[in-house]
Amino acid sequence: MAQLLFKDVNKVYPNGYHAVHDFNMEIKDGEFICLVGDSGCGKSTTLRMIAGLEDITSGEFYIDGVLANQMSSRDRGIAMVFQSYALYPHLTVYENLGFGLTLEGVDADVIDEKVKQTAKILGLTEYLERFPRNLSGGQCQRVAVGRALIRKVKIFLMDEPLSNLDAKQRVTMRSEIKQIHRSVGATTIYVTHDQTEAMTMSDRIVVMKSGGYVQQIGTPYELYFHPRNLFVAGFIGEPPMNFIKGKVEGGKISVGGQQFDLKPVVKDVSSIEGKEVVFAFRPEAIKLVEESKGAKGYVISSNVELTELLGDTTNVYANVGDVNIILKVNPHHTPAMGSEFKFFVPYEAAYVYDAETELAVESDLKRH
Ligand code: ADP
Repeated sequence: MAQLLFKDVNKVYPNGYHAVHDFNMEIKDGEFICLVGDSGCGKSTTLRMIAGLEDITSGEFYIDGVLANQMSSRDRGIAMVFQSYALYPHLTVYENLGFGLTLEGVDADVIDEKVKQTAKILGLTEYLERFPRNLSGGQCQRVAVGRALIRKVKIFLMDEPLSNLDAKQRVTMRSEIKQIHRSVGATTIYVTHDQTEAMTMSDRIVVMKSGGYVQQIGTPYELYFHPRNLFVAGFIGEPPMNFIKGKVEGGKISVGGQQFDLKPVVKDVSSIEGKEVVFAFRPEAIKLVEESKGAKGYVISSNVELTELLGDTTNVYANVGDVNIILKVNPHHTPAMGSEFKFFVPYEAAYVYDAETELAVESDLKRH
């Protein structure tokens, strides 16, 4: 296991492109960290700097308290799993798993023991004599994870390891990787553009934005209930948060003939008077008005454009004034298309962001 520390780490590629800006973070022994963000936001670059495959342009990177900027990849105690499994097609699963150890000149009986042990952890025992072409995508990815696992490293690095798998295999592998992490305990840094993967697997998530800017670092719970800016609010959660923009006048914004009093949801409403703000709430945080049972919040009127039954919920696409919103409702209470739909947003599920700085306006509300 290893503890990692980043101090103002920057990456500027030789062509002048500044891919990672001032990355600061302390990663604890055995933590599972996801780097998440859209394509090109600097996730792989960060991972490759940890691996020693990319130079760090400025700043300091420590492994277990030792400055590692110049440390060779070999000395870092890492193993990496990539998107493409890159198994050797002419070698069996057994040989693929043991290949790295064979190269290192490890004794055959030690290799045999480790291969069998790793295969057991990954449920590959009955496939050891098969070639990759006779395995499913999920099984290939398991062999790729096994190849990294067998080396008993301190740090596990994974770059979109599930993106070549179909949706069902991804869900299975997600929990398998989590279980492996629990039993092996290596500090793991996992890159993905898929927020569901990040939310379900991580101890903490790093949300990055294009240009290589860290937006927020926190537990899945913190990111979901306390997104610190509009980017994170819109990135975490599916369907995304609803945003209604307006200018604060007398502590309220008006949209489509409706007024939203912001006083109950921000700490100091005078600090936003006269400013453009974004009033936000999650599609799944709404209630039917008759279900609100005396709770305090907003009653909002919308016009329903389209409904989509998903089975467990219905997505309702609606308008408030000229703003499009999405709501999740119980399918037994699906409003009719073209109708007016009134819904309830509890105060603690409403957020206000400064439209200019994009930062959350301070609130005293307990958000669960
Ligand atoms: P992500 O993993 O989040 O998709 P990357 O870390 O791969 O993003 O890339 C971040 C940015 O750096 C991208 O805009 C990419 O085009 C750029 N980039 C990556 N490698 C190089 C390189 N060798 N030279 C110049 N720019 C690069």
